[in-house]
Amino acid sequence: MTDLAAFKMLINGHMVAGTSTFDVINPATEDAVGRAPEAEQADLDAAVVAARNAFPAWAARSIEERRAVIIAMADRLREDVDEMKRLLTSEQGKPHQDAEREVLGAASWLKGAASLDLPREVLQDDAERRVETIRVPLGVVGAISPWNFPLVLAMVKVAPALLSGNTMVLKPSPFTPLTTLRFAELVSDIVPPGVLNVVTGTDRLGPWLTGHPGIDKVSFTGSTATGRRVMESAAHSLKRVTLELGGNDAAIVMPDVDVEKVAPELFWAAFRNSGQICIATKRMYVHADIYQQLRDAIIAYAKTVKVGDGAEQGSQIGPVNNRAQYDRVNDLIADSRARGHHIVLGGEAIEGPGFFIPITIVDNPPEDSRIVQEEQFGPVLPLLRFETVDEALSRANASEYGLGGTVWSGDADMAQAIAERLSTGTVWINEPQNLNPTVPFGGMRQSGMGVENGREGLMEYTAAKTIATRKLRPALAS
Ligand code: NAD
Repeated sequence: MTDLAAFKMLINGHMVAGTSTFDVINPATEDAVGRAPEAEQADLDAAVVAARNAFPAWAARSIEERRAVIIAMADRLREDVDEMKRLLTSEQGKPHQDAEREVLGAASWLKGAASLDLPREVLQDDAERRVETIRVPLGVVGAISPWNFPLVLAMVKVAPALLSGNTMVLKPSPFTPLTTLRFAELVSDIVPPGVLNVVTGTDRLGPWLTGHPGIDKVSFTGSTATGRRVMESAAHSLKRVTLELGGNDAAIVMPDVDVEKVAPELFWAAFRNSGQICIATKRMYVHADIYQQLRDAIIAYAKTVKVGDGAEQGSQIGPVNNRAQYDRVNDLIADSRARGHHIVLGGEAIEGPGFFIPITIVDNPPEDSRIVQEEQFGPVLPLLRFETVDEALSRANASEYGLGGTVWSGDADMAQAIAERLSTGTVWINEPQNLNPTVPFGGMRQSGMGVENGREGLMEYTAAKTIATRKLRPALAS
C-alpha cells in the first residue's frame, strides 16, 4: 500500500498535495489504486481565490485565444490516451476499449465544444436607437462531476465554461478522481494559472463548494437527490445552477423492426458501461407481436457478452463502480425476486472480489414495481410488453424523470410521431445515446434544470448584457 501513487490537485497553476489523502478503489479487485488529496476548506478557498484573480484577464482575452487553449488541452489529452485509459479503467471499472473511447471522446468533446460561438444580437437599429445584446461570462464556475463518465462529463463543463470566459473550480467524484487529477496535471502548463483548478475530497467538499460565496455558478451532474441539495445550497448566494440529473429512459420498440439486427443494439443501449449511463435504456417497452422473439434474441446475445475485470482482454462489461451502487442494484434485484418477477437471465451473486453483477433481465414485471419505476443505474433491465402506441407512451411518460428515450421502427413517420409525444429532453430514433458537443442536451422534470452542450448550453455560462445607444441628440445638448 505504501507505494500507491499519490495524485495532486491543481490550484493556481501548481500541483498541490493537500495535507491528507483518501484511497481510490479499483471496483474489479477492491484494492486501492491510488491516493487523492482530501482538500481542506483552505485548499478550496485558495482555488476559488485563484479562479477569481484569473477571471478578469481570461475574460478579456478574445474567444479565439480561449479556443486555442482548449484545443491545445484536447491535443495534450489525446497524446496520453494509453496511460489515461488504464487509469480510468482502474478507478471506474469500464473495459479498456470503453475507457479509450471515453478518453478520445473527451478530447473530441473539448474540440467540438470549442468550435461554438456566442451570439451578438441586434434588437433595434433605427434612427432613434441601437440596442444590442451580447453575452458576458459569469465569473467563477464550480463544477461537480459524477463517477460513471468522469473524464468526458468533466470536459462537458470545462470546454463551454472556459470558452465563454469563465474560470473554474472542478470537483470530480471521490470514487473516480484520479483521471481528472491526471488530466489537470497534463494541462497545467497549457491553461493560465487559476483559470482551471481541480480539487478533490470526500463528502464534505461538495457542500463547501456549492455554498462558497466566491462561486458564481454551479454546474452539476449527478443524482436527482444530490441535485436538490445542490440547488438548495446554491440558493443562499443566488448562484446560477445547471443540473444534469438522473433518468429512467424508455425504449419503445415497434413490431416492424428486424428483431435479430436490433437485438444487439438494444442490448448495448441498456448495458453499456454496466448500465451506468444517465441515458441508458432503463425500461424497454416491446410490442406484443415481437415480444417473445425479441426477448429471446436479447437473451441469446447477452449470453455471448463477457463480464469481467475491465483490464482483462475480452471483457465487455465491467463491475459496477462502487459498493453503495452495488448494494443498491442488488437490492432492486432482490426486490424483484421477492415479488416473484420472472428473472430470465442473471440475478444471482457472482463469487469473488469486485462489484460484479451479472447481466440481469426481468421479464415483463408489473409497471408499478421498483425495477420499472426507479433508476437502476446498473446491469439490470426490465422488458415490458405493450399492445398499443398510446399505452406505451402513457406508461413511458408516467415518470418523474424526463431525460431521454428511444424509438425503434422502420416507419419514419410513425417513429417521428412517437418521438414528438415522448416527454423527455432528447429522443433518439433507431439509435441510442448519440450525444454531440454542438447539440443541446437537458432533462425535463426531475431529470434536471437547464441544458448542456450546443449554443444553448454555452449561453448558460453567460449573462445577457444589453447596450442601448440613443441616436437622437439629447434635447439639452442641442
Ligand atoms: P451523486 O449525486 O452521488 O454524486 C455526483 C457528484 O456530487 C459527486 O462528485 C459527489 O461527490 C457530489 N456530491 C455529493 N453530495 C453532494 C452535496 N451534498 N453537495 C454537492 N456535491 C455533492 O451522483 P453519482 O452517483 O456520482 O452519479 C450517478 C447519477 O448521476 C445517476 O443518477 C445518473 O443518472 C446521473 N447522471 C446524470 C447525467 C446527465 O447528464 N443528466 C450524466 C451522468 C450521470
